[in-house]
Parts: sequence; C-alpha cells; structure tokens
Amino acid sequence: MAYPIYMTIGNILKALRCKPSYHAQVLIGYIPTTKLEGISNKTARRRALGNLFHACMHHVLGPIGPYGETGVAMMSGDGVWCRCHPIFAVFVGDYPEQALVTCTYNGRCPKCTISPGQLGEYKTFPPRVQSTTSNTFLLADSDIRAFHTVCHKSGLKPVFHPFWQTLPLTDIFVSITPDILHQMLQGMIKYLIRWVIDIFGAAGVDARCRVIPPNHRTMLFRKGISTLSRVTGQEHKKMCAILLGLIVDLPIPGGHDSSRILNAARSLLDFLYLAQFQSHTSKTIAKLEESLATFHEFKEVFIDFGAREHFNIPKLHSLSHYATSIQLFGTTDNYNTEQSERLHIDLTKNAYRATNHKDEYAQMTVWLERREKLQRHLAFINWKQQNYLEGPQPQMCIGPPCAHSLTLRMARHPSSKAVSWDDLHHRYGAVEFQDALADFLAQVHNPGLSQRELRWHAANILIPFCAVPVFHNVKFTDGTEIADSVHARPEQRDMHGRIIPSRFDTALVQSGPQCNAPAQGIRGESQLYQSSNLIVCSGCQIAQVQVVFQIPSKWVQDVAPSLDTSPLTHLAYVEWFTPLKATPDPKHLMYRVSRQMQDGSRRASIISVDRIRCSIHLLPRFGPVIPQDWNSFTVLDKCHTFYVNPFSDVNNYLNFI
Ligand SMILES: [Zn+2]
Repeated sequence: MAYPIYMTIGNILKALRCKPSYHAQVLIGYIPTTKLEGISNKTARRRALGNLFHACMHHVLGPIGPYGETGVAMMSGDGVWCRCHPIFAVFVGDYPEQALVTCTYNGRCPKCTISPGQLGEYKTFPPRVQSTTSNTFLLADSDIRAFHTVCHKSGLKPVFHPFWQTLPLTDIFVSITPDILHQMLQGMIKYLIRWVIDIFGAAGVDARCRVIPPNHRTMLFRKGISTLSRVTGQEHKKMCAILLGLIVDLPIPGGHDSSRILNAARSLLDFLYLAQFQSHTSKTIAKLEESLATFHEFKEVFIDFGAREHFNIPKLHSLSHYATSIQLFGTTDNYNTEQSERLHIDLTKNAYRATNHKDEYAQMTVWLERREKLQRHLAFINWKQQNYLEGPQPQMCIGPPCAHSLTLRMARHPSSKAVSWDDLHHRYGAVEFQDALADFLAQVHNPGLSQRELRWHAANILIPFCAVPVFHNVKFTDGTEIADSVHARPEQRDMHGRIIPSRFDTALVQSGPQCNAPAQGIRGESQLYQSSNLIVCSGCQIAQVQVVFQIPSKWVQDVAPSLDTSPLTHLAYVEWFTPLKATPDPKHLMYRVSRQMQDGSRRASIISVDRIRCSIHLLPRFGPVIPQDWNSFTVLDKCHTFYVNPFSDVNNYLNFI
C-alpha cells in the first residue's frame, strides 16, 4: 500500500503531459497509509487521520509557500534561468480525496455551499471561499471548543491547519476539478445504464446488444450489458457508444411512451461527449450547459418509472461545476484521474518490486531517485546528439474543436492475390462487380460525360482480366496510431477450423466533388465550428464497403492509364445508403438512412479508395421484434433502415454537432 502524490506544472503542453515517457508528472512523496488502529475512538481516529494527511501535505508543499508571491529563480531544461511563482492551482483526485483535501464532509459538494438535500436541483449555489474558511481554521489556535462549533455550523471538518491555509494565491475550493472517470463513467453513466435496464427490461436491452454491427471504434457486447460485473470506466465508455441505439425504438413494458427517457439519455450522453472535447469555444461550453439543463428537465422520468427515488447524488451535482472549471483550467483531459492511475504502476508498483520488501520506502526512494537521474542523463545525451526532436511529435489541439484528420494507409501486399468474379459475387457479395467496373472504367476514360453516355461507353468496354488482388481492410492513422479502420472480408476459418463471420463495414464516402466552400456541419451549422475535416461538406454519403481491390498491375496501362500515375491505385466496390437528410429525427437527434435501390437491386459503384473518409457505425432500426436470423454480422444485410451513430467515439461525435 502506498499513497503517492504527483506534481506537474500548468505551463507544460497537455499533449506532452499526458505521455508518461516525457516525465512531465513527477512523484513528490508518499503519504502514510496507516489506519491509526491504536486509537479506539472512531471519531478521534478519523480526525487524527485527516490531521495527519494535512500535516504531511504541509510538509511536502509548505516550502513553496513563500515563493508564490515573491517568486524564485529556477533553471529550465534549456539552461535559462527564470523567475518562477509556484502556485498551487489544481487538485486532481476522486471524490473521497476531494473531501479530504477541502475538509468537507462526505455527501457535500467540495466546491459550493449546497445543502445535501438539494444536490439534485439544477441551480447555482454560493461558492465556498478560501479566505472566509481560513478564518474558521485560525480559531484552532485559540478556543478549541468555539473552533469545533464554527466548523460544525459551516459544514467543515475541524482539521488543525489544513495544508493550503498558508499557500498564497490559492483557493482550494476552486482548485477542485471535474473527474470524468469517477463522476461520469463510473458515476452518472453507470446509474443511467442501470435505470434504463430497470425500465426497459434486461432481456430486451441484451437481445439488442447481440445485434449491433461491429465497428473499429465500438465494442461488441455479445452477452449483453445487464449481467456484467465489475465494469471498468473503459467498458462504460464503450457502452455509451451504443446505449441510445439499444433503446431508441425499444418498447417499454406496459406500452408507455419512451420519448422523455430518450431525451434524458441523449442529453447525458451529449454532456459526456462535449465534456471530453480537447478544445472548446464559448459555443461548445454553452452546448455543454444546455445538455445538462436538458437532462435536469427530463430526469424526473426515472422517478416516474420507479427506477430512482431521488436525485440527491453528489456526482450529479458535480456536473454543474464542469463549465467553470473548463473555462478556468482548460479542457478536462488536463486533469483526468486516468493518468495518475497509470503513473501508479510505474512510480509505485515497479518501485516496490525493485525492493526486498523490507523497509521498502527508503529503498523505493533511492530507486526512483536513480531512475530520475538516469532519465535526465538520457535526455542530456539525446540533446547533445541533436536527435532531441526526432520521433513522432504529439498532436496539438489548437483552435475550435474539430475531428482529427486521418491519414489513409493501405497494406503493401493484398490479402488475396487473385479473387475471381465468381468469388467476388458469392463470397464478397459484390453482385454487380463487372458492370460497376465497366462503369468506372468508362468514367476514367471519358470524364465529364453524362450518365446516359457513360452507360453506352460502359457497355462497349471489354475487361481483359478475370480476377483482381483484394485487400481485407483499409486503415486510418492519427499521426502515429491506428485510429480507425474499415473491414471488407468474406467468411473465413481460423487455425482451429472455426468460422470467422464475414464483415463488411460501413463508411463515410465523398460521393460528390470535394467542396471548397466554408465547411458546414451535417446540420448545416457552419457558424458553430470552423472547419471539420471530414463529413461536413455536404458531398458525403454512407456506403457499405464490399471489396477493396486493385486492377492487376499488368493491365493498368491498358484499361486505366490515368490510375497508373495516381499515388493511390486502390479501388473499392461499395453499396450506397440514402443521402443524409437536412435534419435528424427530432425524437433522438440521430439521422436515419436506408439502402439505396436502383432497378430493384442495391445501388453499387466502384470508387477510388481515397474517397473513403472514415468508418461510420450504423445502428439497426429494430422494430418491435428482432427477427431470429439477425446478429451482429448479418444485420447490415438483413435490416433495411438504420440510424447513424454519432456516439461511436468523441472524434466521430464532432462530425455530428
Ligand atoms: Zn457544488
């Protein structure tokens, strides 16, 4: 057991701070983990523990106190001396830690003076102010009885001189920041999922989980979501990606109307995704507050359906402080608790493993000190050798929020060297492959012709080969890591002979010419975000990718010489969905699409792969009863109408605002 305290400074770019390899967060101490079992009186023990924590923190942070205002000369990594003002600005921790640090009681807000019975109300309450509470804590030096009475009245724990009392320019209550992991993912989202399952019934929700199609950004819950135990924050995040799709048309037992529940769920999901943006404008902050207001407007529905008795939940109240914290301290990824859990492994668990497990703290400190020295030496050597700037630079997020631009990457070698027309028809479902290829080639040879003229040209094209090399996926990278992919592969068998079902993903495709006009959101709200790199232009349409292939290299010169000179020679056979409407469904704000038909069959065409922008997750429109033969891998084929999922991840969500 160890209770590590980490420190970082606000001047460091968050893109660097979040990478452990940059060592932008340092361990500054371990706080004792003793339970003080020698003190038999429970209240006295709790108080002593609180006092011990604050005394230790004072020991660690006390030395910076005098320099907050006067400043102190420090040398930065490049050898330049600066006058620095170390000011305690932000405390990152979970709720019990926040209560410990601010000396507030469990069940109270560490930031404002709201009473415990009002936690479910959507109102602002007067904030706690350090300067006034400091006066209360000064009483500890004079009349101890009066000190206890005043503390009791103001809802504060009687701590003997909290560590922040003497720190200049600090307000401990302001310094408490949002905590997406514990307040949202392991808090409100966890509750929302439980309420929804209570109301709609576990069987209905779980049955739908089994029929959600796969996507790079989402996770399949083959056994449903109602029976899972010890669900992690990451898993809750993945559930959010499909939650609205599970309940959107699901009937409530008893035939009640579900629209208020949809409104409540949709607004809480909106809040979660907006709160995770890596940059904000005043408009997105306003949207964040709007979505919280909408949740409060509709939350009573969970009481009406008996899923909840009251909303006196500290985690729900904490959401009302998100907007102010973001405006003061930057976006929530600057202070999330997920990072410190990762540091814990490196700086505490590994340090402990390096000891002989006896009198470990002294050994751990030596180990950590040596490691820091080695790291500093390594940085120095790298700098001397001038390869300091080499290696991938972290992506910086500057300007209004927009979806990351992704780079398309194709494998060097095909997954299958030669797939015949027959196989493309039967195994890949590319029913009209040859016709589509003829159309494509006619267009390559005669750009600018009308549809009717192209048909005539296509009818006269002779394709001199009868098989093509095929690729089973298209990958997209986000700087260094694979951020998205589109699969198009037939049924296969693994090394044990088990069947791996076929998978043909849906993607967003540039269907018209790329527009250079000011980018518009899907809803045409060009004023909200400047430019989003992906969808935005209205010339995009959703399609299912059936085959990714190339024209055999020895024929390219003959059939499509212009392709030979283009940088990317990969093509894709896709089946189209209907274009997105101007506005989403008002009930749940998702867009509805269905298969686009032409002469009684699905409209298909061959396109250049570089027109695929990203994968898009479709949620089936289930109807009252799910047909027996629908599952995650057949539903795209069997179902006719879908909703476009805006929640597959935050980057994708940005395209839909
Ligand atoms: Zn509050």
